[in-house]
Amino acid sequence: MDDEQRERTISGHTVTIDRTLCIGSGNCTNLAPEIFVIDEQNIVEFQDETPDIDAGRLEEASAICPVDALILTDEDGEQIVP
Ligand code: SF4
Repeated sequence: MDDEQRERTISGHTVTIDRTLCIGSGNCTNLAPEIFVIDEQNIVEFQDETPDIDAGRLEEASAICPVDALILTDEDGEQIVP
């Protein structure tokens, strides 16, 4: 995996961050602050602990990214965002 990619399993979904695309808009961190945080480089990062949250909110927080830096795959391995 690329140095600038991060991956976690949350609520049965695989969430991938592509930090090369993130522009630090903060949309995802506003919708899911338990999961996403903006680091000192103004790029999104996972929180140290990423609890399972409502899957609908996780999808919403991923889909709201304006530059498609967040990739969400469901439990069947199907990519649902973007
Ligand atoms: S919504 Fe996208 S661009 Fe904005 S902080 Fe999150 S990952 Fe970065």
